[in-house]
Parts: sequence; structure tokens; C-alpha cells
Amino acid sequence: MNKIKVGVLGATGMVGQQYISLLAQHPWFEVAYVAASPASAGKTYRDAVAGRWQMVQDVPPGVAGLVVQDANNPALADNHCVFVFSALDMDKQAARELEDAYATRDIPVVSNASAHRGTDDVPMLIPEINHEHINVIAAQRSKRGWQKGFIAVKPNCSLQSYMTPVFALLQAGYEIRKMIITTMQAVSGAGYPGVPSLDMVDNIVPFIGGEEEKSEVEPHKILGRIVDGRIVSDDSIKISAHCNRVPVIDGHTACVSLEFGDNKPSLEEIKRIWHDFKSLPQQLKLSFAPVQPIIYREEANRPQPRKDRDADKGMAVSVGRLRKCNVFDIRFVGLSHNTVRGAAGGGILNAELLKAKGYFD
Ligand code: NAP
Repeated sequence: MNKIKVGVLGATGMVGQQYISLLAQHPWFEVAYVAASPASAGKTYRDAVAGRWQMVQDVPPGVAGLVVQDANNPALADNHCVFVFSALDMDKQAARELEDAYATRDIPVVSNASAHRGTDDVPMLIPEINHEHINVIAAQRSKRGWQKGFIAVKPNCSLQSYMTPVFALLQAGYEIRKMIITTMQAVSGAGYPGVPSLDMVDNIVPFIGGEEEKSEVEPHKILGRIVDGRIVSDDSIKISAHCNRVPVIDGHTACVSLEFGDNKPSLEEIKRIWHDFKSLPQQLKLSFAPVQPIIYREEANRPQPRKDRDADKGMAVSVGRLRKCNVFDIRFVGLSHNTVRGAAGGGILNAELLKAKGYFD
């Protein structure tokens, strides 16, 4: 099978590097186009990331010699790729306009940026939860007059550490009324070079700009439904979030307390629901779909970032410490790899779902 040529915008950054690394062996997609800021444009990819390459594997040979283009000029991507992954870190309004400009040129955008997460006809996908939100793309295209182009986004990275376990309980029929989340987020979540080492070593920073707002709003859109060509959020769960930056390289951890409605599952029932949970990506056997989306760790001291972030290619959510809560009903700890499940791997899974459903035909 001929692979689909893809582009990576923001290819030189933390998430962009993860895309380049994860796509090196992809069965369907091949990186044919890389773009970043004007500071990197004109250099070979190898030179552009020299001294700041953060991946364990070397720069893949097939990408090392590509010349980095200016991501601000979408015309440069014409005829070089079928769609682009966007891992740009730039002003929100500028990123929104730029992603629109690619889609207008018939180049679909599968984005990690937050620019379009609040746009009501743009699906914000965790494919195990809300894969049917891709159906809003028809309305998105028709409103904007786009034929082939469209925009699909991924939610904030820390949400993947708990939203799938929470969704599994909702899907099993249990109402959730309140949720308190306390995250411990890795430094790679701030990009490269990110938080200065003097702020991070021997320290915790109890503030990540905009993160608590995203954690309290984005779950409602993910759980929403399509009405008249737009996604209407479901805000029935009251959410309170504390987000902290901790001295961990990769892997976002979240301590979660839940209050159920009148019907409350037992701890054993919750573990069974998590164990049995599978969704469309598993049924379709998508290459980046974890075989077991939620892995429950029985050990008293798991999950831990170093030991659990790479579970099932870094795409599974590891959960543990499920116990009764003295204030709400239950509490647990969730963990996922922020630059894989929470960023590039999640973006690739979104693209695999879109490809399987014919959106790149
Ligand atoms: P990063 O390491 O700072 O990389 C930013 C990338 O954007 C670089 O390739 C940079 O190019 C490019 N860029 C910056 N300003 C630009 C401009 N004016 N025009 C064109 N390109 C520009 O950031 P990151 O952590 O990879 O994050 C990328 C995006 O993913 C952000 O929107 C972030 O919110 C989101 N995200 C990150 C994570 C994570 O765990 N890190 C998780 C989920 C989502 P140069 O190298 O040339 O400067």
C-alpha cells in the first residue's frame, strides 16, 4: 500500500519531535513535509533540531534531510502532503487563522494546539470516548465551503490521564455529579526548553497558566453531543481542578475524587468496568490503539510515571489506588504519557480514525 504523505507543523518542538519519532515506522503515514518558525525555516531538519533533539532514537534518516519550511506560509505545503499534524506553539488567534488557512487550501489539520478546542463545529477527540464527534466535520466543511479540508483537535494532555476511566463509568450507566482533580504534570508538557531547571529541580510549581480552566471546560465538550451541526457541551459534571508542574520528565499523573448519583458502583464493579472497557479504535485495530485502554495496577504504590508511562506504546492509561473517599464516593490515581497519548500519539490515533472513516480520501 502506498503510504499517505503527511506534514508536521511545529516539527522541531517537543511534540513535533515525538511525531517525527512515532511516525518513522507508521504503516499508513509517511512524513514528507516539515515546517516550523521562520528561525528554523531553510535548515535541514537534522540541523534545525541539532542540540535540542529530545527523543531516545536518533532523527529518522527519512526526515533528517528534509528542509524545514515556514509554517506561516501554507502554500508551501501544497502538493507535498495530504494532511498536516499541527504541533505549533504560538499565539492562539494566529494559530487559529493559520490552521484555517491550511484547511482552506484542502489540507486537513489534525491539531494538538488549543486554538480550535472551543470551536463548536471542530471535534475534540479522544477516540475511545467521542469518536462519533467526527460526524460534525460535514457541517464544518459546509459552513466554511471547504471540500477536502477540515480541522480536528485533541484535548489538553492531562485529560487523557483520567477522562477514559471516567467515561467508562458513565457509559456503564453511573451518573457522576462532582469531580475533583489534582494533577502532577511533567516538565515536557511545557515544551522545549520549557520551565527553567532552577524553577523545577527540588521543587513543585503549583500553577500552569490556563491549565485548570482547560481541565474544567474541555471534559464537558468531550462528553457533549452533536446538535444541528455543532457540538453542545454536557456540563452535568461539576469539576474542580488543581494543576501542578512537578520534576518528572514525561507522564502526567492525576489524583481524582468522584461523587456519583444515587446509584453507586462498588470498587469491584469499577475495576471490572475498567478492565472490560474497549471502544472503536480497538474494534478497528488501529495501529496506535492500545489493546487494553485502561490498565488497572493492583500494587499499592502504582501507577508511577517512570514505570507506567510507556504502557502499551505509551497509549494506555494506567490507573491504581482505587478506594473509598471520605468526602465524595471514590478516589483513584490515573497516569498517561503526555507527549505520546496526550499529544503526538493521540494525534496519530485521531488521524488513524479519520483515515479509517474515509476523511482523507
Ligand atoms: P515547543 O516545544 O515550544 O515547540 C513549538 C513548535 O512551534 C516549534 O516547532 C516552533 O518552531 C514552532 N513555532 C513557534 N512559534 C512559531 C511561529 N510563530 N510560527 C511558526 N512556528 C512556530 O512546544 P510543544 O510542547 O511541542 O507544544 C506544541 C503544541 O502542542 C502547543 O500548542 C501545546 O500546547 C500542545 N501540546 C503540548 C503537549 C506537551 O506535552 N508538550 C501536550 C499536548 C499539547 P521553532 O523550533 O522553529 O521555534
